[in-house]
Amino acid sequence: MHDFNYKHNDLYCESVSVEELARKYGTPLYVYSRNTLISHYRKIKEAFSPINPLICFSMKANSNMAICKVLVKEGSGLDIVSGGELYKAFKIGVSPRKIVYAGVGKRDIEIEIAMRHHIFFFNVESIPELELINKVAGKLGIRQKVAIRINPDIKARTHQYITTGHGENKFGVDFETARKIFLGKQKYKNLNISGVHMHIGSQIVDAEPFIRAMERIVNFIKDLETHGVSIRWLNIGGGLGIIYSNEKPQTAKEYAKAILPIIKKTKANIIMEPGRFIVGNAGMLVTRVLYIKETPSKNFAIVDAAMNDLVRPSLYGAYHEILPVKSHSYSNSKEIKDFDVVGPICESGDFLGKNRKFIDLKEGDLLSVMGAGAYGFSMSSNYNSRPRVAEVMIEGSKARLIRRRETYEDLIRTEA
Ligand SMILES: *Cc1c(COP(=O)(O)O)cnc(C)c1O
Repeated sequence: MHDFNYKHNDLYCESVSVEELARKYGTPLYVYSRNTLISHYRKIKEAFSPINPLICFSMKANSNMAICKVLVKEGSGLDIVSGGELYKAFKIGVSPRKIVYAGVGKRDIEIEIAMRHHIFFFNVESIPELELINKVAGKLGIRQKVAIRINPDIKARTHQYITTGHGENKFGVDFETARKIFLGKQKYKNLNISGVHMHIGSQIVDAEPFIRAMERIVNFIKDLETHGVSIRWLNIGGGLGIIYSNEKPQTAKEYAKAILPIIKKTKANIIMEPGRFIVGNAGMLVTRVLYIKETPSKNFAIVDAAMNDLVRPSLYGAYHEILPVKSHSYSNSKEIKDFDVVGPICESGDFLGKNRKFIDLKEGDLLSVMGAGAYGFSMSSNYNSRPRVAEVMIEGSKARLIRRRETYEDLIRTEA
């Protein structure tokens, strides 16, 4: 996170003062470091360079076109989960050969458009979906490559809403079903069922669940080989955890070291789908304190950002570090107090942080909610008829508006 730093007492993103950004673009405001974005992408690329995988950035983590373009220019592909992301991917100009498409509820029209554009892989999550893709491919006269997403039934220690590889989750198919599909794949005449896909969850900080899942998957692939079925592509998903507070997540290097020996047991080419790891710590949400409200039981810092701008604290109880944009060094004359940092939305669940200590926090002060680059703006909404906020990307000493702030007219544009 060396691109977000204090110079004297002022918080900077790369070489730009956050206070200046707030003055110029207003608050709330998402601010991204282009340098962090690129360096995190390169960390994965370098760690896995011995096998040269196809890295497909998971668009749902942050689908801003400017962010995705930076990564695509670095050589990244895109992992998409909807027709909307497919549309944005085309507009970004990524090669269709670097698009992989997951999701349990792909609609026929989404499948058809993706296929007409010759995307690389569908990651298939059920037999009815496989049948539909086969039918659409037949109609278009295409032989479509697909991977079967396997749910390896692994419980990863992360929030229950972001595990995806446990038997009770809606994702993928179990090993027995996958086996039946591969052994009977001739019946899907328009499909080239040549890949296995897994993605066991998000914000997984240690290698152990990945290792267990991959061992199961690799054994499965080995077993298929003894039946004459060879797997050309293995997609190992995303899920790498990052530092929000005091986590000690595996580094990209450690992750590679743990799993390379396992995946090298197959001859399959590797696809990866990192999202959070690349963009999570490349972004922050800057917000201004509107009111300090002291009650007999609590102090509240009421800020201008809310759960509609960053829902992770409300949705997952997620922790984000909150830093003052102007730091105060402690002296006897200044007070340290605990605050709940809350937004203006009419929900008690609308908070960005609880019991946070600040020195001399006042109305009008700026705060930065750190680690907000992934699942931040991309999960934002217009709840309470709040226009969605602006986003800027910093490159060195330059700031570029990469999404303008919505206006009130934007709020009614699509309504009767
Ligand atoms: C969300 C998602 C990812 C990215 O997960 P991160 O935890 O952000 O790395 C990758 N693959 C699939 C299929 C996903 O749904």
